Amino acid sequence: MGVLDVQGDVTEHIVALKRAVSDLGLPYDVCGVKTPKEIGNVSALVIPGGESTTISMLSARYGMDAALLDAAKGMPVFGTCAGLVFLCKEGAKMKNGQKTLGLLDARVVRNAFGRQRDSFETQLNIPVLGNEKYPGVFIRAPAIEKVWGRCKSLCRYGGHVVLARQDNILASAFHPELTQDRRLHEYFLGMI
Ligand code: GLN
Repeated sequence: MGVLDVQGDVTEHIVALKRAVSDLGLPYDVCGVKTPKEIGNVSALVIPGGESTTISMLSARYGMDAALLDAAKGMPVFGTCAGLVFLCKEGAKMKNGQKTLGLLDARVVRNAFGRQRDSFETQLNIPVLGNEKYPGVFIRAPAIEKVWGRCKSLCRYGGHVVLARQDNILASAFHPELTQDRRLHEYFLGMI
């Protein structure tokens, strides 16, 4: 299991994934992934939250964008927050020249809920995780305003899609690594 390690909350995802792996008794190692070669060694990859413009720029600089596109053909990929922005095919309020991987048939709005000070936490209804509500941590969060093709909404909040899946690609507008609830990481592990 790898966490793309160019920028963002890499450590938090590594800790959350290690806990989920151990809870489920799975035989996976979890590590940060910095180079195209390292992507070849993992069976699933998380693209963390952070700053999507920076993640996009640094990924291109280190040749990770092409490696990610290649890897996503065969392995589960989970983008959270800035990682979700990076996965979408279309975007609104994007920075000039900001590139995305275009793997999700979805249109994202960056900073859809306002600025940093408008960040919030709320209880989400996510049917694939069961009846118990899930703590959604939204930090200068994006949201998906439209999905099409094979991309399906798994959770809506405030009139937007905030969790979506397209085959082996999962994307959340919120930060599952910042809660103690590991159900979403466990759901992702189930996609391997
Ligand atoms: N708004 C940020 C961006 O577009 C994402 C914020 C986050 O990942 N917490 O990069």
